Amino acid sequence: MDSPYPLTKTRAIILFTLMLMGAFLLISWSSYEVARRSLNNEIEENTLPLTSDNVYSEIQQDLLRPIFISSLMAHDTFVRDWVLDHEKDPDAMIRYLGEIDRRFDTIFSFFVSDKTDRYYDPRRVLETVSEKARRDRWYFQAKGLPADKPYFIDVRPDPEQHTHLDVFVNHKVQDYQGNFIGLTGIGISVEKVKVLIEKYEQRYNRTIYFVDKSGQVVLHGQSFNRAMNIRQQPGLGPLTTAILTVPGGSYQYRDRGRQVLLNTRLLPEFDWYLMVEQRDHPLQRVLYITLLKNLGIGVVVSLIFLLLLWLTIGGYQRRLEQMATTDKLTGVMNRQAFELSFQRMSGSSFQQDNPVALAIIDIDHFKPINDYHGHGIGDRVIQHIAGIIQASLRRAESLCRWGGDEFLLLMPECDGAQALARMETLSRLIEQSPLISNGNTIPVTVSCGVAERQGKEGVDALINRADIALYQAKRHGRNRAEKRDG
Ligand code: GH3
Ligand code: MG
Repeated sequence: MDSPYPLTKTRAIILFTLMLMGAFLLISWSSYEVARRSLNNEIEENTLPLTSDNVYSEIQQDLLRPIFISSLMAHDTFVRDWVLDHEKDPDAMIRYLGEIDRRFDTIFSFFVSDKTDRYYDPRRVLETVSEKARRDRWYFQAKGLPADKPYFIDVRPDPEQHTHLDVFVNHKVQDYQGNFIGLTGIGISVEKVKVLIEKYEQRYNRTIYFVDKSGQVVLHGQSFNRAMNIRQQPGLGPLTTAILTVPGGSYQYRDRGRQVLLNTRLLPEFDWYLMVEQRDHPLQRVLYITLLKNLGIGVVVSLIFLLLLWLTIGGYQRRLEQMATTDKLTGVMNRQAFELSFQRMSGSSFQQDNPVALAIIDIDHFKPINDYHGHGIGDRVIQHIAGIIQASLRRAESLCRWGGDEFLLLMPECDGAQALARMETLSRLIEQSPLISNGNTIPVTVSCGVAERQGKEGVDALINRADIALYQAKRHGRNRAEKRDG
């Protein structure tokens, strides 16, 4: 029998599954988000600043070294005394500069005298600086430094080797009264700093570089392949002004769909910013894979749930349907089911003008059986009769317990005469099949009323005519079948 509620069942299952999947999605996504955010916070607040601190302290040593050395030279009493003594022995200064280079591993050291404009270096290139010469501009620039800024840093890329970079620190030399008497300084190669940057980049899986106050990238590792001004870098450009106006901070931006966490820190001696960036933390991938796994588990569990729900609801539905359509005592159809069955048949074989017959079968003198043997035996007699009729059923025939001791038998493709003959046979069979109970033989007979459906006659009219035939059978002595034609 068709389920009277197919849509409701499907709808309910879809709804439950959607709810379950939604809950899984929500829980997985929200726990992923929480984990991702706390990881980002951890990176932003601890990991990145910590790396930044490490890099800063180690790189700073190398970058600040030339400042210390030039300051040492500028305050050296030998240098000052030598100038005040009218630069009498140039070799002494040349030896001094040579010693500085040797001792501090600088690539280059020099002294320029303000009094004589002479330029000394360990290679004995004795020249004079001129305000007019373009190549000497750096000297006059340094000379004009304000009193509170004793040194000037110059970063020059090697014109032949673009990756090579030198840092020059030019320090003012003053006499014991604070008068400007010259400029000394050194140049160092920052290759070592670059090596350090690379070491840190690899160890921490970070991108590390330095930018000056204009946003220009001044120092970076070998793998750096982005725009040389951070203003032109995707995602980072809009943050540039904010970054370059504070001494340091933490930032987040997106570059080609990927999130980047950035920590910045100002190196005041250089006016450079140390930039430490983190993208694709390995744990982020782990979190993402966990999210996918959770979603996968969610889908599998939902599908299993869906299947179990389908089977459970289906089972209950079938049981309910069975309960609603069968007679509890005999297991044959009840009235409602019979009427539905009749309607369904009206739509098929009835329409093809095939004959249809109906029989009402009623147990004879059933009341005395009940009274004499008890209600329990009465029930068993009803079951016994139902069993005999059911065993004699043909294909497409429907049997129904109409009430008390009455059964209806609907026989498609069977005319009145055939039905009558069959009921006669059935009556004889029942007559010869008494119920044996507790050693007692209980004889049972039935009377049958038969009617053939006329035209498009409805179920009630057909039953009515069969009932009249039954009444006749009862009246004519029972244990027989009669047919009602008109
Ligand atoms: P008739 O030959 O004229 O049919 O006589 P009858 O005694 O069989 O009369 P009727 O068919 O009117 O009696 C039906 C009786 O069946 C009445 C009722 O007490 C009994 N009955 C109805 N339903 C049940 C049932 O479920 N179990 C039992 N044991 N008896 C039932
Ligand atoms: Mg009866």
